[in-house]
Amino acid sequence: MKRLAILGSTGSIGRQTLEVVRAFPDRFQVVALTGRRNLTLLKAQVREFKPKLVSTGSGVRGERMSRASHLSMEEIAAHPDVELVVVATAGKAGLGPTLAAIRAGKTVALANKEVLVMAGEVVTAEAKRLGVEILPIDSEHSAIWQCLRGEEKKDIARLILTASGGPFRSRTIKQLAGVTPAEALKHPTWQMGTKVTIDSATLMNKGMEIIEAHWLFGVPFDRIEVVIHHQSIIHSMVEFVDGSTKAQLSLPDMRLPIQYALTYPERWEGVFRSRMDFGKIGSFNFEAVDLDRFPCLRIAREAAEKGGTYPAVLCAADEVAVELFLAKKIGFLDIGRLVEKILERHSGVSQPSLQDIIAADTWARDAARAGF
Ligand code: MG
Repeated sequence: MKRLAILGSTGSIGRQTLEVVRAFPDRFQVVALTGRRNLTLLKAQVREFKPKLVSTGSGVRGERMSRASHLSMEEIAAHPDVELVVVATAGKAGLGPTLAAIRAGKTVALANKEVLVMAGEVVTAEAKRLGVEILPIDSEHSAIWQCLRGEEKKDIARLILTASGGPFRSRTIKQLAGVTPAEALKHPTWQMGTKVTIDSATLMNKGMEIIEAHWLFGVPFDRIEVVIHHQSIIHSMVEFVDGSTKAQLSLPDMRLPIQYALTYPERWEGVFRSRMDFGKIGSFNFEAVDLDRFPCLRIAREAAEKGGTYPAVLCAADEVAVELFLAKKIGFLDIGRLVEKILERHSGVSQPSLQDIIAADTWARDAARAGF
């Protein structure tokens, strides 16, 4: 039995993690669940999976969960009964618990990409020092991880991240200016949380995934590329020094990368039953990203190359910009403009400590709120 803590169990990744768990009642035990917004669903999950530990985040709201102890997410992540921590929270909420899990020697299955974007150096250095594994759940990174099994790091020539291009890949700049939150929330191929759906529409998500890939696989930024692949079937690729390229393919369904992180190093026949009919799929399309229409990818790459506290500022400013867009206070194209403006105003700290990162995050949120 693998003993799991699922942080953010009521979100999209959390719910799908529980679908995987439900398929293997003899092999996984849910020791802890945490959720913040949807307490009704959290209660239903607690009834079904009977975890020993439950957290509703800072400040317990609603009724007490029956018979479950209340701890912070950090305490849950480090709890002796927990073996593997699934970090399915969104935004900066996952950073503290991820570090707590690593410091307690737990394996981390990471879906919350902002953790590595904000503090990739601190988090991966700590994991390396303590010999703890960080297993990616993000579909692109799961694909690269699967392609790299049995390979040597020195043989990697390039990582090629695929991007669906989001719902607006064929719109002009003029059309993009008028995009509404409702349109941006309709992703053509993936069902995801709100923040990541908007980030997919601006391609900020892909920019953050470049940074995530850099820290997970230790590949320099100039050897991590992005290509638009409309079908979202090739989840990413690795080119090796001899010119050979490996790709990982499946129908788009997050339960597959979630399950792979949970069953690794094994593969189990699980909840993901759909199989590809290549004759029906017919063709795959690829296209270069137009950085004039999707500047967030360029902005993220620039922040990545500057390093230090810039990626944390990128994350924080983007989180605020997405909130402002969803509240209809700024337009779709203003998301990138606002993030870029805040990055330009930031005086970065190189080799930042966790405190420097948190300070940069707070500064960027305030600056973005004041500056739109
Ligand atoms: Mg992804």
